[in-house]
Amino acid sequence: MSHPTPVMVHTPAHSGLGTALTYDSPTSLPPGTLVRVPLGSRELLGVVWDSDSTELSEDIALRPISHCLEGMTPLSPNWRQLVTFTAHYYQRSVGEVALAALPNQLRELSAEQWARRLKRKLKANASAPRAVPTVPHATPEQAQVLDHIATHTGPFLLFGSTGSGKTEVYLRAAHEVLTRDPAAQVLVMVPEINLTPQLEARFRERFAPLWGEACLVTMHSGLTPAQRLNHWLAAHSGQARIVLGTRMAVFASLPGLQLIVVDEEHDPSYKQQEGARYSARDLAVYRGQLEHVKVILGSATPSLESWHHSRPSTDSEPAGRYMRLHMPSRVGQGVLPLVRRVDMNRQPYKTVFSNHLLDAMRERVTRGEQILVLLNRRGYAPVLHCTDCGWKSECPHCSAYRVFHKLDRTLRCHHCGFTQGVPRACPSCGNQDISPLGRGTEQLEEHLGELLADVRRPDGAPLRIARIDADSTRLKGELERQLAEVHAGAVDILVGTQMIAKGHDFRHVTLVAALNPDGALFSSDFRAPERLFSLLMQAAGRAGRDASISLTQACEMWVQSFHPQHPLFEALKQHDYPAFAHQQLKERQEANLPPFSFQALVRAEARSQQAAQDFLSAARDAGAAEADQARVDIYPAVPMAIQRVANVERAQMLLECTSRKALQAFLNHWQAQLHTLRSQHKQVIRWAIDVDPLAI
Ligand code: ADP
Ligand code: ZN
Ligand code: ZN
Repeated sequence: MSHPTPVMVHTPAHSGLGTALTYDSPTSLPPGTLVRVPLGSRELLGVVWDSDSTELSEDIALRPISHCLEGMTPLSPNWRQLVTFTAHYYQRSVGEVALAALPNQLRELSAEQWARRLKRKLKANASAPRAVPTVPHATPEQAQVLDHIATHTGPFLLFGSTGSGKTEVYLRAAHEVLTRDPAAQVLVMVPEINLTPQLEARFRERFAPLWGEACLVTMHSGLTPAQRLNHWLAAHSGQARIVLGTRMAVFASLPGLQLIVVDEEHDPSYKQQEGARYSARDLAVYRGQLEHVKVILGSATPSLESWHHSRPSTDSEPAGRYMRLHMPSRVGQGVLPLVRRVDMNRQPYKTVFSNHLLDAMRERVTRGEQILVLLNRRGYAPVLHCTDCGWKSECPHCSAYRVFHKLDRTLRCHHCGFTQGVPRACPSCGNQDISPLGRGTEQLEEHLGELLADVRRPDGAPLRIARIDADSTRLKGELERQLAEVHAGAVDILVGTQMIAKGHDFRHVTLVAALNPDGALFSSDFRAPERLFSLLMQAAGRAGRDASISLTQACEMWVQSFHPQHPLFEALKQHDYPAFAHQQLKERQEANLPPFSFQALVRAEARSQQAAQDFLSAARDAGAAEADQARVDIYPAVPMAIQRVANVERAQMLLECTSRKALQAFLNHWQAQLHTLRSQHKQVIRWAIDVDPLAI
């Protein structure tokens, strides 16, 4: 008998094939089954979808399904619903989202390879059996939080200082669900796995002795295709009880899912920046609701969205949807570092390190303590310029300067990658005197080496300075190697970008210095202060994590700024995230910005700025009447902050609405018009909608 079967395949969004395609199958296949189907001259992986996802046409002879991937449980209705919701909410096709959520290798295996693959069970590493770990007694704060998690449905916002024992809460909450039900699974999400190898180690240490090494798998972009498939299958089969992964893990097939943890929930890396631009944090909350499982969002500096959603009730307003749980104290009476602000207006012109800071650094290094120096700009100098004619190292392909990298004497564009050797003389006037303007981490490392050349470590050896940023860690394994050196105490001063501020548990750091963070105070991006505050709080949290040190030696965070009295630094000094959040939310409310309104961005790229903007303006006109009705504001198209990258002009247009629902409904409709308009605007190279954009 013949069964018309709807199948989702990855079709390009612009082809207009948004819904499932119908194929013929000799047997009735349940939705969620993986199949291979012909499309044009190719054969693609597809997922059998629900029968209401397509309209059947009677008269067309259907092509048959080539074969189905036997032996695998179909993907669950919940999984399909998560995918469908994601596609609709972020304005992409269901097929694209569904297929992107599956491991690549599934697409490439033939029927025979697949059969062979399934026979092979995930090999458990034959490692030595682990000792059962000693689990510390929960602190009173942890006990209280765990009690709330056990007795309420959530979602929970775990607002806990750095070092307050949030990870221990995750471990215990996970342990609880995993022991209660032998089929239970837990999803733990982290922003960037290679920056936090300790987290994986702690989960393994806790759970491998109970359920073997194979009980935990990771999911992130650093896996080989074969590993990714193995880990995915382990999760899908229920063999893996804990999945630890980056944003992509939110789509893992987890038949026994019982708990979702999103660590560092404020981190911007939870937002996907291409294709379906989903927020894995937001999808985690949605998935929790869909599957009736608890969700814990954890952070020392929550996103203002989550903070707002977890507001307590007031006389005039009901409480937010999330339950806020607070752990203010560091474990073991560790104290948070003292924040010291240096007024750079009172320093000599061109001071890089104030003398006070240098003295403090000398003292610490001599005592054998470690220091972090944070500067959010890599390279040697952001610009090279000619003192004679004013030439600057512009990128010929972008509206940006090329950065001077001294180590390999290159000028490199950080936007398009265009790289050239540094010219001997000014390309414009021939002047030999071209010099760097401003400074980056490379220069800082060099400069510190000179300033502290006479300083000795306690063992009499000269001090060691290391640098961690995207340049120094380009080679695989390099980041891990460098971090290990810091942990081993081989490095005295670590200079770096935000990479060094995240999650690391550096035991011997007692001083953190942030140089020149002022840019974010006056940025046109309304989220810049939020990002800066959380970065500085995270960085401060690196100091004094070892209670035995912080009790004897006051830890410090130094901030060098031209605006030391700024409220952001005041709040930082008090370690007062709630005060900062309160002030920011007030400003956002007055300006009607998220979380008090909802936004979407449409971006367009074309050979000329005019063409990009024309497309957006046409889209605006096409949607004007409906937008007006839905109370959606569409702002005029503008060039993006970096207007040209790799010779492509970029423009964007902002949409805003006080109702998420109304904005959604409008976008769903308008999207079809954009696809049509695009075919009339031939010069447009690509366009995309970004719902809930993070950078504007
Ligand atoms: P966070 O994730 O909030 O930064 P961690 O969970 O990493 O905090 O805890 C900080 C330190 O305190 C870690 O070294 C951890 O092993 C330790 N710790 C956490 N909870 C306890 C506890 N209940 N008793 C003793 N030590 C604890
Ligand atoms: Zn010149
Ligand atoms: Zn460039």
